[in-house]
Amino acid sequence: MNVLVLGAGVVGTACAHYLHAAGHRVSVLERRSAPALETSFGNAGGVCPGFAGPWAAPGMPVKALRWMLDRYAPLALRPKLDPHQWAWLAAFAGNCTAERFARNKARMQRIAHYSKACLVALRHETGIAYDHGEGGVLQLFRTEDEVAGGRRAAAVLQQFGVVHELLDEAGVLAAEPALARSRIRFAGGLNLPGDETGDCALFTSGLAARLQGEGVTFAFDTTVTRLRVDGGRLRGVETDKGTHEADAVVIALGVEAPFLLRPIGLDLPIYPVKGYSITVDLASNDDGPRSAVMDEHSKVMIARLGNRLRAAGMAEVAGYGLDVRPDGIEAVLRTVRAIFPGAAVDGAAAPWAGLRPMTPDGPPYLGATTIEGLFLDVGHGSNGWTQACGSGRIVADIVSGRTPEIDLEGYGIAR
Ligand SMILES: Cc1cc2nc3c(=O)[nH]c(=O)nc-3n(C[C@H](O)[C@H](O)[C@H](O)COP(=O)(O)OP(=O)(O)OC[C@H]3O[C@@H](n4cnc5c(N)ncnc54)[C@H](O)[C@@H]3O)c2cc1C
Repeated sequence: MNVLVLGAGVVGTACAHYLHAAGHRVSVLERRSAPALETSFGNAGGVCPGFAGPWAAPGMPVKALRWMLDRYAPLALRPKLDPHQWAWLAAFAGNCTAERFARNKARMQRIAHYSKACLVALRHETGIAYDHGEGGVLQLFRTEDEVAGGRRAAAVLQQFGVVHELLDEAGVLAAEPALARSRIRFAGGLNLPGDETGDCALFTSGLAARLQGEGVTFAFDTTVTRLRVDGGRLRGVETDKGTHEADAVVIALGVEAPFLLRPIGLDLPIYPVKGYSITVDLASNDDGPRSAVMDEHSKVMIARLGNRLRAAGMAEVAGYGLDVRPDGIEAVLRTVRAIFPGAAVDGAAAPWAGLRPMTPDGPPYLGATTIEGLFLDVGHGSNGWTQACGSGRIVADIVSGRTPEIDLEGYGIAR
């Protein structure tokens, strides 16, 4: 089959790989001049099935209101005159019950663990270098409340058979010796040795280059303007450079997906949630994590990517603007300075902002739609790097008429 993949972020590129491996003729259309220049560019670098879970959780609405008073809080809500923002927020609030949280968490755990296994297999098969680390991720708790939250998370991990370790203060220091110099005392931690780290953009561009060498076409600087549907079937894709026809089209457009899907009657609740990151080179005498830490209090993740330090966090529900707000960067930097005071992060910190394509319940939309020939790989929110390979494999299986290897309950548009 001729298959078009729209979008060359990590999600579209991974899907293109599995479609190509399944024997299809694959073309990728991308509006930017190279792969992974949007949300997949500067994320925290965590391949973290251990953390995969919805942000819509019991207690979150109250926390969100409290955070509105704090300039450097991990979450900021800036209301817009946009009915899609309000609808998304209402749906998000509706998912903050214990019952829905448990259901959504189970769905996200399923795809995240499968996806990590797919990424590891792909890494071994291709040898793509992306500054990856297999040293696990350590979640840090500052307060007894956070420790109690960690115990609840550990009970859920137990249920899913995820290897983990609850640590006390001494255990935290033993797991991450650089924390001995931290200005913060941690009451405990949750160690997830199976989680990984890696540069998502390096992975995506390495995979895209390899695919191009094997005959997959990447049309860069090509903006998709319309999906042409006739008689319930997708007939073609219009771009600023002309029209493309295909037997199947996979939408992997991140936060932009709703703009092309709404005109053809598919109104998916995907809304941008902005985050920030900084990246610095680590000199040999600098402080930095052995692998990666996730500070539960500020929700900032600090990871080692080769000889660089990447720190990322913040969640702004504030529309589509990509401006790098100084307060957002400062919030990330404050956490790094407090936890790794010897890391030279000021000055050359490569500030970046990206938009997470969030669904209100958490899981992505994967697979077929009501329109024949149109498939989805969208809505990966805060887990797109973790979920990309498994999702790509699943969508390629569905396009090819094969049965995916995991249960697809909860990933459809009718959920
Ligand atoms: C601060 C931050 C930290 C994060 N940390 C992590 C993490 O540690 N672990 C993790 O798993 N995930 C993380 N994420 C989430 C992850 O980065 C995203 O889920 C993932 O990058 C989404 O990939 P994507 O391919 O769907 O979207 P994108 O990377 O945005 O790709 C979509 C592509 O579609 C193209 N496009 C859009 N519209 C058009 C059009 N009309 N025509 C042609 N092309 C178009 C865009 O140019 C873009 O290249 C983080 C995100 C942020 C913001």
